[in-house]
Amino acid sequence: MRKGHNLLAVGDYNQAVILDLIRRAHLGLSRVEIAVETGLSAQTVSNVARRLLDAGLVREAGKLIAGPGKPRTLLQLEATSRYAVGVHLDPTVVTFVLLDLAGAIVSDHRIPTPSAADPDVVIAVMAEEIRALLERESVPPERVLGVGIAAPGPLDSTRGILLDPPLLEGWMEVPLRDALADATGFPVVLEKDVTAAAVAELWVDSGTHRDNFAFLYYGTGLGIGLVVNHDVLRGASDNAGDMGHLMVQADGPLCSCGRRGCVGDLVVPHRLVQRATAAGVLGRSAPLDGSVDGPVEHIDFDATDRRFSDFARAAADGDAAAVAILEEAATHLARALVSIVNLLDVDHVVCGGPFWRRIAPVMRERVERLVAEDPALIPSHPIVVENSTIGEDVAAVGAGCLVLDQTLSPRPSALLIAG
Ligand SMILES: [Zn+2]
Repeated sequence: MRKGHNLLAVGDYNQAVILDLIRRAHLGLSRVEIAVETGLSAQTVSNVARRLLDAGLVREAGKLIAGPGKPRTLLQLEATSRYAVGVHLDPTVVTFVLLDLAGAIVSDHRIPTPSAADPDVVIAVMAEEIRALLERESVPPERVLGVGIAAPGPLDSTRGILLDPPLLEGWMEVPLRDALADATGFPVVLEKDVTAAAVAELWVDSGTHRDNFAFLYYGTGLGIGLVVNHDVLRGASDNAGDMGHLMVQADGPLCSCGRRGCVGDLVVPHRLVQRATAAGVLGRSAPLDGSVDGPVEHIDFDATDRRFSDFARAAADGDAAAVAILEEAATHLARALVSIVNLLDVDHVVCGGPFWRRIAPVMRERVERLVAEDPALIPSHPIVVENSTIGEDVAAVGAGCLVLDQTLSPRPSALLIAG
């Protein structure tokens, strides 16, 4: 079996601090600047810089002429020296990204989730897709730091196991982390999908410097990733972010939990497609399994995906029934978001996930307005509702960023690496 190259083994705290600093300075930094910024001695900086140069993680690039005296050599991140693979397992679609050391997306692609009932098949397909991806991009395995995988919760992060994700039938107690490590030969990090998405938004900050935000994850299921004071909230068992059973409609349809009007049940793609079918938005297509008012027993993921696209297109074209369905969904979502905003005092809600982009043109502005107008809203500052700039790749990018974090981030991390 091939072994992954685990850079952590040779890393140390100072090295991570310096590498992180160099990563953030796009034009590079001189050793003197690094010493000033970090408070480390010139000798320590010089030693670490030598190690980073030897490992090929940074390069010397140009000189900085700062006043009289010798020009200073700049150190820049060697972005193509190492890579991370990010994978996002959604019940409908599996997304793969290849990130360079700077976190830039080198390559991305998606496949329909293969026969989701059989985890072994899905894991084998994922390993083969990763192998083909690296071959296509001519990345040798020794340059790959690891694989990050984002998956639906709940999960046991200590053991790297998916416990019983509600929408992945047959995925009881699946040791996803170790199985994927065995299948690929790389170290693997496992993270809940909504948390991975929040990590990606923190990493790829587009200059907005959001420190307190909720990431509304709109995939086959609904969830929320939370960032408070620039830290991702994971909770006692790394399963934070389940908002699905927040009640937003007292007389709503029966949820699988036995109560009525749970937001996750009301607004997920499958439910919107059911309602659109019943309202005649999708022509004379046969209804999907289950009724609009009963608990969801089984989802045909392929059909839902296709019909959701048709439904979203109808809404974008102004079909009154389709728009009405989305308006109702926006009301439910906004009500749940107000509870979250009140609880955590976040000032941004970033929306994304595999199904969001298709309805974003109708939803984003409505949700923002409904949150602002809600009499239950407590914080007096504006709540900005925005679309993720990373788009449908967001959870996969976050999973890859977690691998890079192991190398670059000086923060002590509770993440687990197997392999
Ligand atoms: Zn419920």
